[in-house]
Order: sequence, then C-alpha cells, then structure tokens
Amino acid sequence: MKRLLTLSLMAFALIAGGLFTAPKAQAAAPTCVKYEPISMRYPGDGKHQFVCGKAQNDPNGGSMIIYNAITGLPSNITTLFVNENVYWYYFYTPSDASAWFKAHYPNNPYTVTGGCGGTFTITGSSPTTIAWVSEYCVDPVNNHVPQNKWVQATALHEAGHAFEYALNPTGFNAYVSESSNFHQLASQDLANFIKNTPICNVWGTTVPSDYEVWPPSGGNPGAVCNTQGQVNKPYAGKNNEDIADVATGYFFVDKIDGGPSPLYAELFAEEWAAKTGRNAPPVFPLMDGGPLAHGFSCTAFAILWFFDTLAPPPSNITWPTGCTKPTGSWTS
Ligand SMILES: [Zn+2]
Repeated sequence: MKRLLTLSLMAFALIAGGLFTAPKAQAAAPTCVKYEPISMRYPGDGKHQFVCGKAQNDPNGGSMIIYNAITGLPSNITTLFVNENVYWYYFYTPSDASAWFKAHYPNNPYTVTGGCGGTFTITGSSPTTIAWVSEYCVDPVNNHVPQNKWVQATALHEAGHAFEYALNPTGFNAYVSESSNFHQLASQDLANFIKNTPICNVWGTTVPSDYEVWPPSGGNPGAVCNTQGQVNKPYAGKNNEDIADVATGYFFVDKIDGGPSPLYAELFAEEWAAKTGRNAPPVFPLMDGGPLAHGFSCTAFAILWFFDTLAPPPSNITWPTGCTKPTGSWTS
C-alpha cells in the first residue's frame, strides 16, 4: 500500500481541493546533490540529505540549518530515522519540490501545492520517507512567495511527521495521530483549552501567520488581543475554541474532536516540533505560543513519551492533572 500524508500546510490541499495552488507553469525538475558537511552525521552522512537547484546558492545556508536541527535531536531519534530511511531535501521553492516529485515519483499521489515544506512516506517492503523544506514558501492568504524565515522550525515540524511515520513504517492500522488514544487525548485537551481563561493570557498580541489562518479567503484577522490586554474586534464575544477557529483554523477547522482528520497529524507534528525544538523559532507562531503553550498537556505528555522512548505510554502511567487515561488503542 502506498500511503500519502501531507506535511507542513500540505494538508490544505486535501481539505481545500486547490484553493491555492502552485504556479501553473511546470518547471523542469531541479538537480539535487548530496549535502555533506565535514562532520558527516545523519542526515549529512552522504546518504540522507540533498540540496536541489538554486537552493544550493542560499545565502542563509538553509542546508546547514536543516542539518543542525536534525543532528540536534537525540540519537535514538536519528537512529530511528536512519533505520527507517528518512531522507531530507532542500528545495528553492515548492514548485521545484513539485517538479522533483513528479519526476522521481510519477505514480505517487503526493502533490505539492504550497507552504514551506512537506513530508511524504511510501510504505511497503522498504518504507521510505522524504521530508523537504524550501527556501521560499507559497503564502496561502496573500498568494505571494515570501522567503522562508523558519527553515529550522520547518525542519523540526517535518521531523515530527517523519517521526510518526518512522514509528510505524508499515502504516499498520494507524499512525499515532490517527489512533483512538491520541484522539481521546486531543478531545480532552480541547475541552480543557475551551475552559482556559483569560483569553489574552492564551493568545496575547501575536499575529497569526497566514499559514495558520483558515479559511484563507477570509484574510488574516490579526492579533487576538491588543497591548492593553483587550480582545480585538474580530474576536469579540468568542471563547477560546471560537477564536481558535478564526486565528488558527488550520488546526481546528474540522474540530480535532470531530473524527479522523489530517489536522490530527498537523497537531502531532507541530506539538512535537514545539516541545522538542525548544530553542527553535515557531513555525506556527500563534499556535505554538498560544494553545500549545497554554494547554494541550495530554497530547504533549504522550508525544514526549514517544519522543523519549519510541514507545507508547504504558498503561500504569500516571497522567498529568486534567488528563484521563485513554481507553483505546495506539494503533487503531
Ligand atoms: Zn505538517
């Protein structure tokens, strides 16, 4: 079975059916070369990291930023990535990524539509995961191509997806983010979050990135609160859940307690990035600094357990205050 899962912002494509798409002109696939820093640790071991096309000329050294982000992970994680064939690619633009995937995986349904990165995995006899980051992004709201200011954070976010695939390379039954236990914990987190007050303590004055806002046709609603600690007009009278729908709708548009959704995968990946990349800038500044920093402790506990042990929390573990032990499965 070939499995397709989308990455950073790529889930938009599945949900939106092409509300915003990559530039129409199909460029030639860029040529990729190995990225081999002197220390040559994974992924820059001569086998697992590549840089493609004009990204080779990135004045900010995106390949090294990716390399440092991934080598900074604990060795149990990087060993898992080696064993489960996780590869890293740095492209100039999402269009380059799209052309490359079409050229190298013509039969795979994965399509690149925008964002700043992505990850896809092919299950089977030799499961392979490809994580990519681009020097430039496609902005879903303003429909322009900004420079990727978050290469490190994007790499960590994609590493979160790659981690989930690597934990379960055959896709047996379900990835963690698709499991009943994770969904139960996410539902508890959402319920706790809705009760969490006051609103401005959660959301602050951070303006959401265009990538967090949903739907993009509504434009960017701006910061939830002003510097005086008052709720700004677009959010007046709303509770935390309603605000999440407007400001970070990418994660909440389907309601994480509403059943299977690619947004669970995004929650997993971004929470993983936020909790494990402690010195990294947030790729989703409002989501990371708001909901993930002021709640969602139940899913975070599970994610960090997997991060530390590569295994699910045992049944006899004591869960954090406000979290009830999930009663389902971690694989279905
Ligand atoms: Zn993602």
